[in-house]
Amino acid sequence: MPAKTGREYIERLKKSQNNIFLHGEKVEDVTEHPGLKGVVKSMASLYDLQYEKPNKMLYTSPSTGQKVGMTFLQPKTIEDLQKRREAIQEWARMTGGMMGRSPDYLNAEVMAMGIANDLFAEEDKRFAENAYNYYEFAREHDISLTHTLIHPQVNRSKAQHEQKDANVALHLVEKREDGIIVDGIRLLATQGGITDEILVFPSTVKKEGEKDDPYSLAFAIPNNTEGLKFISRESFDYGKNSWDHPLSSRFEEGDAIVSFENVFVPWERVFVCGNSSVCNRTFRETNAVIHMSHQVVSKNIVKTEFLLGVALRMMDAIGIDGFQHVKDKGTEIILVLETMRSHLFRAEQNAKLDKWGTMTPDYNALDAARTWYPRIYPRLVEILRVLGASGLMGIPTEADFHNEEIGELIHRGLQGKNVEGYERVQLFRLAWDMTMSAFGSRQMHYEYYFFGDPVRMGMSYFDQYNKETYTGYVDEFLKKAKADALHYTNV
Ligand SMILES: Cc1cc2nc3c(=O)[nH]c(=O)nc-3n(C[C@H](O)[C@H](O)[C@H](O)COP(=O)(O)OP(=O)(O)OC[C@H]3O[C@@H](n4cnc5c(N)ncnc54)[C@H](O)[C@@H]3O)c2cc1C
Repeated sequence: MPAKTGREYIERLKKSQNNIFLHGEKVEDVTEHPGLKGVVKSMASLYDLQYEKPNKMLYTSPSTGQKVGMTFLQPKTIEDLQKRREAIQEWARMTGGMMGRSPDYLNAEVMAMGIANDLFAEEDKRFAENAYNYYEFAREHDISLTHTLIHPQVNRSKAQHEQKDANVALHLVEKREDGIIVDGIRLLATQGGITDEILVFPSTVKKEGEKDDPYSLAFAIPNNTEGLKFISRESFDYGKNSWDHPLSSRFEEGDAIVSFENVFVPWERVFVCGNSSVCNRTFRETNAVIHMSHQVVSKNIVKTEFLLGVALRMMDAIGIDGFQHVKDKGTEIILVLETMRSHLFRAEQNAKLDKWGTMTPDYNALDAARTWYPRIYPRLVEILRVLGASGLMGIPTEADFHNEEIGELIHRGLQGKNVEGYERVQLFRLAWDMTMSAFGSRQMHYEYYFFGDPVRMGMSYFDQYNKETYTGYVDEFLKKAKADALHYTNV
């Protein structure tokens, strides 16, 4: 089957009837629900873009000869990596980088784990085959995915088996002839319920001990599997038009708690079954974390470009662009953009073939970028807030502009240096939705946490960093200084 269109994405969702709960009710049709239909439409546009820009977004499947999504490509050359990145950035440009879960993010994971699958064979040869087969299946059917990695926040100072109710978190209940039964809760599936399937994988950061083996699972199942429920947080799409809420009306992905009630997973969909050692190494040893970081850094470059454009337009709109500190704040955003671009360039230029024949970006460069961006993104948001000041609150809705009594009044009263009130307010509403609306706040929280706790990511970055080069440099320096001192003493 070739890559899907937006219409096919929507039809599949209608047919699958995923079990999703929102605002205290079961959602009958996610494609029509007021809190979800905006993002469903945006996802559909992403899939449509595959056919609007086939040269960039599609490639020929090695197994069927059909045209499939470029973001499933196993890169074998640096040019392939660049092609993947261009496709990622095409998608990101459609949303200003505001949809963290455009399909490319998890397509990268499925590709990497499907190819570099020998780790899964440590437990059972079939699991490695399953990972490869799943990659082919996802690619050939253009499967849209959500994923869940985290145990519920009951008591973080204890391991899962030590929790007061050790059955809350998703765990293995039974191994059967035809598959496994799992039960319990997982967090936090972005786009849970508006995709075809869910990947259940271990955390990228948290490591588990052997006693947590029953919680150490990896598998993939359809989102309409019996016993599976998505319990979504309230939607930040309030049904407003896209002039008033330019981002939340279109890109509100939703985040869901996932409940598995004695869910059956057939063996052919299992990748890890009760093995903490394999789980702890999954993202790193399959290089999935590298290919996912490549997607994240590529996407966040576009996001920073978008944010910079908004900041520059705001400066111009209210005539603050000549002030020293305002220029300096613009420079801060530009420095982030240029630094991220340099990381990406180094990552691609220093890419090497791994042992599975996949052209793999330089992880040193990507790891620095992915560990840094969650720390710097809140500053970018703060800059927009500081520049916008009252302009981020003096934002009437479009309906106000059409009101006979006040329309003209605000059009004139809220004019900018070179723009009328209507244009200026639209721009400032975009900045508000990016940073201060419920959607904007969630964006900041997302960038901070989605890849794992930045504090522990930072700790592991420090631990694995090659420090000897620098301590050795200082040791040599001191040795020479000491030798020189002795020399002068002896003269
Ligand atoms: C908007 C959003 C979308 C997300 N989407 C997804 C998704 O699609 N799929 C998915 O699987 N996950 C998703 N996540 C979850 C994300 O992976 C986690 O938020 C992240 O890994 C941190 O884990 P946690 O939330 O359980 O925080 P916790 O581990 O509970 O941490 C809470 C606080 O306690 C501190 N802390 C806890 N334990 C320790 C420790 N051992 N040492 C030091 N400090 C500690 C942390 O530093 C942090 O400050 C999403 C998160 C957000 C916010």
